[in-house]
Amino acid sequence: MKLQEINLNTSYLELDSVFYDRVNPTPLHKPYLISHNPEATKLIGLDAQEAQTQEFIDFVNGKELLEGSQPFSMCYAGHQFGHFVPRLGDGRAINLGETQGWNLQLKGAGPTLYSRQGDGRAVTRSSIREYLMSEAMHALGIPTTRALALIGSDERVARERWEKGAIVLRMSPSWVRFGTFEYFYHTKKHDKLETLADYVIVQSFPHLKDKEDAYFLMYNEVVKGTAELMAHWQSVGFNHGVMNTDNMSIASVTIDYGPYAFLDAYDFNYICNHTDQDGRYSFGNQPPVAYWNLSMLARSLSPIISMERMEKALESFGELFSQKYLELMRAKLGLHKQQQGDLGLLKHLLGVLGSQNIDYTAFFRALSHYDGHRVPLLALCVLQTPLNEWLDDYDKRLKLEESENRNEKMLRTNPKYILKNYILQEAIEKAEEGDLSLVNDLLKLAQNPYEEHSAFERYAKSTPPHHQNLKLSCSS
Ligand code: AMP
Ligand code: MG
Repeated sequence: MKLQEINLNTSYLELDSVFYDRVNPTPLHKPYLISHNPEATKLIGLDAQEAQTQEFIDFVNGKELLEGSQPFSMCYAGHQFGHFVPRLGDGRAINLGETQGWNLQLKGAGPTLYSRQGDGRAVTRSSIREYLMSEAMHALGIPTTRALALIGSDERVARERWEKGAIVLRMSPSWVRFGTFEYFYHTKKHDKLETLADYVIVQSFPHLKDKEDAYFLMYNEVVKGTAELMAHWQSVGFNHGVMNTDNMSIASVTIDYGPYAFLDAYDFNYICNHTDQDGRYSFGNQPPVAYWNLSMLARSLSPIISMERMEKALESFGELFSQKYLELMRAKLGLHKQQQGDLGLLKHLLGVLGSQNIDYTAFFRALSHYDGHRVPLLALCVLQTPLNEWLDDYDKRLKLEESENRNEKMLRTNPKYILKNYILQEAIEKAEEGDLSLVNDLLKLAQNPYEEHSAFERYAKSTPPHHQNLKLSCSS
C-alpha cells in the first residue's frame, strides 16, 4: 500500500472528551530519516519503498496527516515511585489513529495539554534507545510496542546539555495504561470506568465481549498477561527501570522504554535507573512491583468489579508468574521434561552466576553449545569450582532428557546478541556525529538475535568490566 492509501481510524475519540485532548503535532525543524523498520511497515501493509520518500518523513514528523487521522493525546494518572499523581497523560506523545490493529503514535512531536513543565520533545539518544529496544524485545518473543521509524532533526532540545530533537513513530495494540483507569477512579468519574472497560474489551479482549462477567474477566486477563510479561523480562534479564502504573499496559505489552537495561553479569539487585535510589524498580523487584501495580488497578476498578473477586484473582499472580518463569528458564537450560529438582538447579545456577560475576546472556549462549566440554563455560569466570559443581548437577539432570537436538533448540532460545547499554551508547554517539550506520546495523542485530553476525562478534562477549552496570538517567 502507498502512504496515501492508508486510512486511520480514531475510535478513542468516540469516548467522552475527558479521555483525550485533540492536538496537532508540532513538526521538527529540518527532519531527516535515521531509520525505518521494514518489519513494521509490513505490519501495517505499507510498501517498504514508501519509506524512501519525503512524504514519509513528513508523515513521521506529524506534518502530513494520513486519511482519517485526527491526532489526540490521552489523559491518564499514575503512581510514580509509589506516589499518586492525579493527572499525567501523554505529555509528548500524539496518537494518529489505528490501522490493522496497530495504534500509531508519535513520541516527541511537541507539547500537549498534558505536558506540564515539559517541552513535548524527545531527544535523539532516548529515541534511538526506544526504537531499537522495542524491536529487540519483539525478536526475543516478548510482548512489546513496535517502532516503525525514527527521524532526527536540527532542533535544539534542552536537557542536562543541549541535544537534538527526534521523533519515534511507535505502534501498539493498545495505549491504555493502568493509570488511565486510575484517572477516572480518583476523579470519581466512575461511569467513565465502564466506558473505558468497554473500550478495552473491544480493543484488547474481544473474546470477552458478550460475557456476563466481562469486566472481571478483563481484570483476570490483565493479571495473567502481566505475570507472564514479568516472567519474560526476568528470563532474558531485562530491567525496565520505571514501572510506574502509567507505564503499565492494559494489554500487557512492554511500553515506554526509558532508562532500561539488560543485565550484564547476573545481579538480582541490579538497578538501571539512576534516580531509583531505593531500588523500587530493581531487576529482582519487578514481579512484586507488578503485583502492587495490579493491586492499584484493582482499587481503581472497584466501583465496577467486586473487590473480593479481584483480590482472589490477584492471589494467582505468584503462581502464574512462577509457572511461566520456570517454563522459560527450563527452555533456556535445554530441559524439556519437568523434574522435581529443576527449580533447585536453576537457583543454584543463578547463585553461581551472581557470586562469580558471570555474564548472563553470554553464559546461556555458551551453555547452548555445551556437549560435556567445559572449557568455554569455565572461561567465563575466574573461580571455577562453583560452576564446575553446578555443571556436575547439570550433567546428571541432562541424563534424564532424551532430546537429541538440545543444542539446536537452545541456540534458538538463548540469544547471542542483546542490546546492552554500552552497545546502544556506541550507536548513539556515532549518530550524534552524523553516522547513522550503527543504528541501522543494530536494528538488524536486534531483529535476528539468535543468528551469527561475524562483523559484530565482540558484542556477543561478556560486557567489558568498565561498561558493566551502567546507570541511566530518566531525562530523555
Ligand atoms: P515517562 O516516565 O517517560 O513515561 O513520563 C512520565 C510522564 O511525563 C508522562 O506523562 C510523560 O508524557 C511526561 N513527560 C516526560 N517527558 C516529557 C517532556 N519532555 N515533555 C512533556 N511531557 C513529558
Ligand atoms: Mg510513560
